[in-house]
Amino acid sequence: KRKRGQEDLTSLIQRVEDLDLKSAVKNFSDLPLSEPTADGLSASHFKVMTDIQSRAINHALKGRDILGAAKTGSGKTLAFLVPILENLYRKQWTEHDGLGALILAPTRELAIQIFDVLRKVGRYHAFSAGLVIGGKSLREEQERLGRMNILVCTPGRILQHLDQTAMFETNNLQLLVMDEADRILDMGFQKSVDAIIDHLPVKRQTMLFSATQTKKVGDLARLSLQEPEYVAVHEAA
Ligand code: ADP
Ligand code: MG
Repeated sequence: KRKRGQEDLTSLIQRVEDLDLKSAVKNFSDLPLSEPTADGLSASHFKVMTDIQSRAINHALKGRDILGAAKTGSGKTLAFLVPILENLYRKQWTEHDGLGALILAPTRELAIQIFDVLRKVGRYHAFSAGLVIGGKSLREEQERLGRMNILVCTPGRILQHLDQTAMFETNNLQLLVMDEADRILDMGFQKSVDAIIDHLPVKRQTMLFSATQTKKVGDLARLSLQEPEYVAVHEAA
C-alpha cells in the first residue's frame, strides 16, 4: 500500500486541478479520489457511476456549485457525499476546524438514509459526523454539535441550534447541500432555509439537488448558488 503523506496529498490536489471536465468519466476509479474514499466506495461495492454522479462529481471536486435535477433512485446521495469527503480531505480538515459541511434533507427518514450512506462510504475517513433531526433533547444535541465536521439535518432543527446554541459555529463552513430541495420547499421550510443560509459564510460551495424543477426551486437556486454547473438527467424516452 502507498503511504499516505504530504506527497500523496500534493499529487491528489494536482490531479484534481488537471481533471479534464470535457472528458467523460465512467467509474469512480477514473476520478482523482483519496484512498479513504476510494476504499470506502469499493468496500460498499460502488464501481460504475450513475449519470448524475459522473456529470456532477467532477465539477464538484473542483469546487463548483451544482444545481442537480434527477429523479428518485438516480444516485444523488453519492453525487454530493463524495465531493464533501474529498473537498474536506484535501483541506486536511480535522476536529479542530469545526463544521465543514452541512446537508439539509426534508425529513428525518431521508436524513437518516443519507447519514447511513455517509457512515458506509466515509468509514475510512477520520471526520466526525452527526445527525440533527430532533427527537433528542436540544441540550443533548448541543453538546455534540461543537465537535462535528459533517452534519445531516432537517431545516427546522438545525435552525433552532443556529439560533440557540452558542458553541455551534458555522463561520468555517465549506459546503452546503440541499437535498430534495423541492420537497424541502413544499413542506414549508422556505423561511427556515433562508435563515439558515443567512447564518453561513457567503464564500462556500453549495450543491442543490431536486427531483423536479419548480419556480420555488429556481428562486432558491438563484439565492444560494454562484454560477452553478447545471446537471439535469432525464429518463431515456
Ligand atoms: P436518489 O437520492 O437520487 O433517490 P440514492 O442516492 O438514494 O438516489 O441511490 C439510489 C440507489 O442506488 C441506492 O440503493 C444506492 O445504493 C444505489 N446506487 C447509487 N449509486 C450507485 C452506483 N454508482 N452503483 C450502484 N448503485 C448505486
Ligand atoms: Mg435522495
